[in-house]
Amino acid sequence: MTDLHQTITGFDLWHLELPVTSRRDHGIGSVEGSCEVVILRLTSEDGTQGFGEASPWSVFTGTPEATYAALDRYLRPLVVGSRVADRAAIMAKTAFAVAHCTEAKAALETALLDLAGRVSAVPVWALLGGKCRDTIPLSCSIANPDFAQDVALLEQLQVDGVRIVKLKTGFRDHAFDILRLEHLAQNCPEFSVRVDYNQGLTVEDASEQVRDVAQFKPDFIEQPVRAHHYGMMATLRGQIDVPLLADESVFGPEEMERAAREGICDGVSVKIMKSGGLSRGQTVARIAAAHGLSAYGGDMFEAGLAHLAGTHMIAATPEITLGCEFYQASYFLKEDILEEPFLVQNGKVIVPDSPGLGGRPDLDKLDHYALAKAVAA
Ligand SMILES: [Mg+2]
Repeated sequence: MTDLHQTITGFDLWHLELPVTSRRDHGIGSVEGSCEVVILRLTSEDGTQGFGEASPWSVFTGTPEATYAALDRYLRPLVVGSRVADRAAIMAKTAFAVAHCTEAKAALETALLDLAGRVSAVPVWALLGGKCRDTIPLSCSIANPDFAQDVALLEQLQVDGVRIVKLKTGFRDHAFDILRLEHLAQNCPEFSVRVDYNQGLTVEDASEQVRDVAQFKPDFIEQPVRAHHYGMMATLRGQIDVPLLADESVFGPEEMERAAREGICDGVSVKIMKSGGLSRGQTVARIAAAHGLSAYGGDMFEAGLAHLAGTHMIAATPEITLGCEFYQASYFLKEDILEEPFLVQNGKVIVPDSPGLGGRPDLDKLDHYALAKAVAA
């Protein structure tokens, strides 16, 4: 029976280490061997369960250890004993329980939405305002320091129908970036190409290198310089005739408002792990749109559960028009954690219509990959 007034009684956590298939380099750091995520499970009085994922990256948003502690110690007391219906009140209190820790807050809101959706028998997108799209074009990132391995990946993407790639630049040297752009232009003309520096350029080098890259006419160039270099972002934006995207410079609505006011970008990468949840991610996209700026569905090193959360957010947010990059479950993790695969068909993510997130983790996999857990017997 639908009962949003029932109490949340269970709050369980797993800190997972998930093996990955390849090394990936970025302007601000590398990922090799594995990535770490934190999974939250909420249980209500009638036994209904909702799941959420936090996907921190230590050089970008924060650490898995801080995420786990934020949930276990500081957010748990806001949730246990509250009603399923009280999602907005719980999320409002999180700001006063722990600073930052946006990935922990994203996991909490995801689990609250999944739980409310399953109790009400509606998909999460219905709780976020309704659906504006059934599929989302998928972008896969090209970030392997061994470009031969990425050439093999490109061949696989072609077969799979993926038609957007994002080239990670600024981690070795400019010649390597140009070589790979030339390869894409000559050998893979069917791909729409985006470029992401992940803050990799110095203020001294940025103008020359970004202007070179702009000559390849990518869809956009993302975050060439450090997150706090707002003035340099605005300068670079004026020097090129392709859109400049902000990622690390914009976490939540507060930075989006400042970014728009200071004219640092033509668009923004919206990530629930930066904004601190799906609702705040929607707000980022709406502020951007109000200023005539575009929005892209970015992600961190996520498993399929976080992909599902991002999928529902984008499905309910018409302002996010540039597709998504939820590729890790399909192309990066050795094994995803979901019971059923995260659904991508012909290069497009399929928006689920079943209750809640439309997918849940395999509990045996959570236990298998756990470095730590706090699970009631
Ligand atoms: Mg980025």
